[in-house]
This record gives sequence, structure tokens and C-alpha cells, in this order.
Amino acid sequence: MSVLCSRQIRLKTRPAGIPAADHFELVECDMPAPGIGEILCKTLYLSLDPYMRGQISGRHISGTIDPGDLMRGETVSEVVVSNSPDFEAGELVCHYGGWQTYSLTTAEGVSRVDARLRPASLALGIMGMPGLTAYAGLFYLAEVKPRDVVLVSAASGAVGSLVGQMAKIQGCRVIGIAGSEEKCAWLRQVAGFDGCINYKTQPLSDALRQECPDGVDVYFDNVGGAILDAAMDQLAIGARVVLCGLMAQYNTDNVLPGPTPATIIRSRATVRGLVVYDHFDKQQEFLDRVLPWLEAGKIKYREDVSCGLAQAPAAFARLMQGRNFGKTIIKVA
Ligand code: NDP
Repeated sequence: MSVLCSRQIRLKTRPAGIPAADHFELVECDMPAPGIGEILCKTLYLSLDPYMRGQISGRHISGTIDPGDLMRGETVSEVVVSNSPDFEAGELVCHYGGWQTYSLTTAEGVSRVDARLRPASLALGIMGMPGLTAYAGLFYLAEVKPRDVVLVSAASGAVGSLVGQMAKIQGCRVIGIAGSEEKCAWLRQVAGFDGCINYKTQPLSDALRQECPDGVDVYFDNVGGAILDAAMDQLAIGARVVLCGLMAQYNTDNVLPGPTPATIIRSRATVRGLVVYDHFDKQQEFLDRVLPWLEAGKIKYREDVSCGLAQAPAAFARLMQGRNFGKTIIKVA
């Protein structure tokens, strides 16, 4: 087999604040032929996720990316050559292929893309890791019940939009928080949310009192900061709060102050931290339960797709500024 040239995106310098495209560099390198037990994969789709911001700052539990390192990331890839008995050429697989056009791996950590997922990029979004995050948080941590008032921030993303739509299917009243009129309109009109607050134009505490006059039973927090503070102030008695993400804080080294404990005491709330890695054993249960809802048209989704690996740095910068609308995907091949 002739030597393959792979294109890779590596971290060039650590960003101090919001990442920009020039914090990354595109390089070309020869791909070694797969050895015994190895699989050569061609990247079809690359997932860009907020946790990568923590990796390039050295403060994510999955490890650090240093300048000069290949950017890591989950991909949907096609097996080109397999020297492993577990996979065949032509199969679609999901694995941490990284920000590159080809990747070399062993069978460990590689899974087949469920044939029911079309487009296959769904395996990176609402039917993949972000979807499992929403599922585990809503059903296992928040223990959602019919008639709960469910509030979710970063509501138009893969995690937030699925949280809200699954809660609707459970018979809840669902209010989203999002950063533009376009996102709020989609959440109300397409995703079926009962309400949506634009936190950039509406005074948040007033809007929360108006949308959730009897309080919030479940708050699914994807952002932290001032939105978390305001939501905690509106909790109903017995509320469950799921702390999932910190979008308001990822681009800064400053730790934002949290809500006062009084909000938890007076509402007798339960606050739980969510790490999706603890729930990978539920992936099949999640697919079997949620995919039929998607196939029945009960769940809508948006992808924010850029074409070509070279677009990944700019798309990542947009994600970290909140300018994405839906799951950020790079269509690589
Ligand atoms: P999204 O597609 O929702 O993108 C992030 C969104 O956050 C942006 O679109 C933006 O929307 C919003 N945002 C950005 N900056 C701010 C800010 N300063 N204040 C408030 N909102 C902001 O991403 P995902 O669905 O992939 O992820 C959502 C969250 O879930 C993230 O925090 C992520 O880290 C977390 N997560 C946690 C996991 C875990 O195991 N705990 C696993 C997976 C994801 P808007 O216009 O509405 O501001």
C-alpha cells in the first residue's frame, strides 16, 4: 500500500481567553501502514466539544493537550484497512480519531456506528456522548417526573435541546435559556419547548419568575455563572439541580463565585454533579429508548456543520463564543 498523507490540526499556542483559529496549525504527515491488530481509519465527521477548551488549558479530567500535540476529538470514521479480527474495511466506526483526516488505532475504544443512525454524524451529537449526557442527567440524576417544571441552559445545543425534548416526552413543562432570538424561536416552534428566555436581552430573574411562577423542579445547568445564580434563586421545594457544564467559565482562568447555599437550604434541593464517563454503560439503553423517539419525529435536532478539516479551528472558536447553533460537526471527508 502506498504511503498515505494525513492532514492534522495541532495546538500551536495556548489561548489565554477565547480561542482563535491562529492558536492552531495545520500540518501534513505520512501515515504509517497499520501493524498487527491495527486499524487505519478515514475520518468522515469530527465532533467539536466544549471539553476541548479545558484540555488545551490543562484543566480537564480527561487530560491535557500541549502545544505541538494533535488535537483530540471523537470521530465517525470509515475503516480503510483492518488488521484486527474485530473490524472490516468499509465499516463505520466511532472512536477518538482526533483532528486529522486519517487515524491509526487498535480495536480498543472503537465501536461500530449503529446502522439506524442517519446521518452517521448523529453518533457524535444527540445520539452520541452529548445525548448520553442529557439522558443520564435527566433520568438518573434529576430523576425527572411528569409535571416537573424543567429549566435548561445552553438549551439549543446537543445536550440542552435533548434534555428539554426528553422532558417534554415525560410530560414536563420545559423552559429553555438561550442566547439569541433565533435559538429561542427554534426551541419554541420546532423543539416544542413551552418557553425560552433570551438571557442576553431579558432580565433573567424577572423572566424566570414569569415563566416559572411556582418554581423550577429540575434545573439542568450547562453554563454556571450568573445564569446558575438566577436559576437557583427560583427553585421549587424539593428541586433537583444537575451541574453539567460551565460555558460561562471555560474561557477564563478566574473561577466564578457560585450561588449562595441559602438557595439550596430553603428549597431543600438536591444538587448533583454529572460526568458522562460514569454513564457509558447506559449507551445501549439510551439508544434503544431515545432513537425510536427520534425516528418517530418526536425529537428534533440541529447540527452546525462546517466542511473540511481546515475549518475546525474557526468552528471551535465560534463554539467557544456561543456562536454555534446546534451540535458542532466538521465534515472532514
Ligand atoms: P452547545 O452546542 O450547547 O454549545 C455551547 C452553548 O453554550 C453555546 O451555543 C452558547 O449558546 C452557550 N454559551 C456559550 N457561552 C456562554 C456563556 N458565557 N454563558 C451562557 N451560555 C453560553 O454545547 P454542548 O451541547 O456540546 O454542551 C453543553 C454543555 O454540556 C457544555 O457546558 C459542556 O461542557 C457540557 N457537557 C458536559 C458533560 C459532562 O460529562 N459533564 C458532557 C458533555 C457536555 P447561547 O447562545 O445559548 O449562549
